[in-house]
Amino acid sequence: MSLDPPDWDAFRRQAHAMLDDAIDHVQGIAAGPVWRPMPAEIRASFAEPLPIDPTPLADVHRDFTTRILPYHSGNAHPRFVGWVQGGGNVAGMMAELLAAAIDANAGGRDHVAIEVERQIARWMRDLFGFPATAHGLLVTGSSLANWMAVVIAKTRALGVATRQTGIAGAKLRAYTSAAAHQCVLRAMEMSGLGSDALVVLPVGRDHRVDPAAMRAAIEADRANGFTPFLVVGNAGTVDIGAIDDLSTLAELAAAERCWFHVDGAFGAFLATVPELRARVAGLDRADSIAFDFHKWPQVPYDAGMLLVRDGAAQAATFASHVAYLARDARGLAGGGSWPVDFGPDLSRGFRALKVWFTLKHYGIRRLGKVIAKTCALAQHLARRIEAEPELELLAPVTLDIACFRFRHAEPDRVNAALVADLQEAGIAAPSTTRIDGALAIRCAFINHRTTEADVDAIVDAILAAGRRYR
Ligand SMILES: *Cc1c(COP(=O)(O)O)cnc(C)c1O
Repeated sequence: MSLDPPDWDAFRRQAHAMLDDAIDHVQGIAAGPVWRPMPAEIRASFAEPLPIDPTPLADVHRDFTTRILPYHSGNAHPRFVGWVQGGGNVAGMMAELLAAAIDANAGGRDHVAIEVERQIARWMRDLFGFPATAHGLLVTGSSLANWMAVVIAKTRALGVATRQTGIAGAKLRAYTSAAAHQCVLRAMEMSGLGSDALVVLPVGRDHRVDPAAMRAAIEADRANGFTPFLVVGNAGTVDIGAIDDLSTLAELAAAERCWFHVDGAFGAFLATVPELRARVAGLDRADSIAFDFHKWPQVPYDAGMLLVRDGAAQAATFASHVAYLARDARGLAGGGSWPVDFGPDLSRGFRALKVWFTLKHYGIRRLGKVIAKTCALAQHLARRIEAEPELELLAPVTLDIACFRFRHAEPDRVNAALVADLQEAGIAAPSTTRIDGALAIRCAFINHRTTEADVDAIVDAILAAGRRYR
């Protein structure tokens, strides 16, 4: 009993209508609210039971347009400047549809989805100056990529046999800065090493780690019987976009025989911008880099990658040659090494296609220009903040992120409240973070649709909202 439509012509008409609606949604995104809270009755309606009997596709789609589409998170909207999120793009959107039509499982076997992914990995290898031994694997995002890097570095430090025996008693230590993303801590937890094995070094106002302090920590640990195994550098911290001195960290890691991993979730793509490339000098000396296509390169969620200089180290960590997966020399079960050998997933979708379409359709120069524009928007915002006596910057604006607040006698309470006000009114969606303990409004410019007029509108809205708390 096939699930294909009994009437393909009717399906085709319905499918075209759905595609038109999707295009209308993206085309009109800026005209609607950034976000709208989901009314209680809509939320309650999702308690409906498991459908037993069929519903016509047109009815399911109507249900989608009334109960799902309006309550999106808003990251495609030009005034979504919260957290660090990309805005998607229409070429990637179409690629998602085409990928679904192929319905490839890119875990293994000999087929084109894997070849496309290999091509993307080679493009990234060349972009970041990695050698031919490098291997890239698409994953959900940098959280997973950072975790994989920890596991690979651990296996490298303790030997492949510890895949079987476990780490029993090994006193490994990893090093990063207090500005590192929370997922690095989680990676340590999930690797079985424990977050206590991560030495978190303090940062100054520039949010960069002091390599001399890191060296001292490593040497003290070694003297106390620990085994330093991993240095995690940051290329674009999530709070303010700080970039560690990657060249010096690379030298330090090499001298201390540590794996050098860089969390470049969004910052790695500065390599695509001629005038900003020097900021990530030393990235090419990393042992591995985590980065997200779904942030600055605007690929629809989700698409991140772990690029590893020595692909063999990655395979030594993840490959298992169970009999039923033994590779054949010929046929569909061939194809050499498979993605499953390089990461935790067996079944994997054709994530590569939306990356491929995005990179091909826009080209790296245009994507780099988008990145440069978002950094210019942050500078524009910084100038506006400096010109408004009611606002104050809380951290230097060096990349695409500005952290600031509305001056008030109760600054934390009022700034948290006015950010929520703006979000709930659908006017704009900045997020909040803490800078030296103080609550800050964070505007992170990633979205390619944001303009200077949007930045001005956000500043005006923050001033108006803040004054209501006077
Ligand atoms: C976004 C981000 C992460 C997490 O990446 P995901 O793709 O959300 O898993 C890690 N580090 C930094 C610096 C980030 O900006």
